[in-house]
Amino acid sequence: MEFEFRQVTNKTYYFNDTNRVLLYKLDDNNVVLFDSGKNTHAGKKILNIIRENGWTLKAIYLSHSHADHMGGAAYLKAETGCEVYAPEFERHLTIPTIIEPGFMYGGFPPKEMCLPFLCAEPCPSKLLTDSVLPPGIEMFPLPGHTFNMYGFKTDEDIYFLADAYVGSEILSKHPVTFLYDVEKYLETLDMLELKSGKYFIAAHANPSNSILRVLSKNRENVLEVLDTIVSILKEDDCNYDQLLAKVFTHFHLIMNFIQHYLVGCIIKSYLMYLRNEGLVSTKVVENQLLWYSL
Ligand SMILES: [Zn+2]
Repeated sequence: MEFEFRQVTNKTYYFNDTNRVLLYKLDDNNVVLFDSGKNTHAGKKILNIIRENGWTLKAIYLSHSHADHMGGAAYLKAETGCEVYAPEFERHLTIPTIIEPGFMYGGFPPKEMCLPFLCAEPCPSKLLTDSVLPPGIEMFPLPGHTFNMYGFKTDEDIYFLADAYVGSEILSKHPVTFLYDVEKYLETLDMLELKSGKYFIAAHANPSNSILRVLSKNRENVLEVLDTIVSILKEDDCNYDQLLAKVFTHFHLIMNFIQHYLVGCIIKSYLMYLRNEGLVSTKVVENQLLWYSL
């Protein structure tokens, strides 16, 4: 995808480099960012444009700690001295960033997962609260995708919704998209349906003035993954690896070392939601933990 920088309204712009970053002009000279690009290279491209326009970067407000959102923060902070803020809980994952691949792997992470796509350059951040936001900006929680992701709204009625949902084209290619808490993720989709605004910008979806359809697609997608897991377990009890293989086959995913853990981490979250809902459970048979449908 071509790197792009687009003006949305008088004070609000976005960068796109596979994931979108919002820029908000505080005045003629000073700007802030919401997220920071996927890595140092993206951060450089962002800073070049900020400098070409004669602006000064005052602060970065991170929506959450995933590497593709905080990946440019360390570089931008080092170059400009800007402040970096992140939500509670997420803030503890901006340093050390090795926790992210360790969390997804479930132990000491393999070197293949300690690369910039999962393990950003560490960047200390301060606690994001209403009081550190510039005038004209509101923040609101978007739980579910991660522990404590936040979204933002500018006084020009532009929403920045980070990874609260993904575009339909991404859903068709990657039907098992990342989420941490299924229940909260679905609640966030419901909450966003009630939002009205001029323009909605998410990291991995085409900006739009209406998101009802894409929210509905994302909800349908989650429900399909849930139904698929339950259907698989209705056919037969499975250990985790057997279940994962059947999920991959159902969604035409290609298994490899990394995908086993990345998709597996998501499926584990789905399984815990189903277990909490009383739809599946586990038992030990011949020293194997088996999942089964209730
Ligand atoms: Zn994310």
